[in-house]
Amino acid sequence: MEPTLLKPTLYTATGALLGGRCACGHVFFPMQTYGCEVCGRHGADLQPMTLTGCGRLLSSTVVHLHADKARTAPFAIGKVALDEGPVVRTLLVDPDREIAPGTRMVSRIVPIGDSTVDLRFALED
Ligand SMILES: [Zn+2]
Repeated sequence: MEPTLLKPTLYTATGALLGGRCACGHVFFPMQTYGCEVCGRHGADLQPMTLTGCGRLLSSTVVHLHADKARTAPFAIGKVALDEGPVVRTLLVDPDREIAPGTRMVSRIVPIGDSTVDLRFALED
């Protein structure tokens, strides 16, 4: 049985991110048709674009205690500048390792439950 994607509107089973591109060239994530942040075009001027999930780490930190006690800590979050331009705030695969800003990162689909998977970012192979 295929695992269930936790957020199927945001990424594919291969870890590609579901972003968009405006007629002006601006690339954004996630896909939306409300309006371009750069030029204000909307509707059909904003078209879906699959982003590779490759980029560079801008910053990261490890959360040791979360306000929601149901959230298992530690976990690592980071900001990744995707090669196509958008910056995403994301969970990182490895919570126990310091990763230097500028490090190449890549999206990975990881299991988070018996039949559910979610997207994380990891060090590029
Ligand atoms: Zn635009």
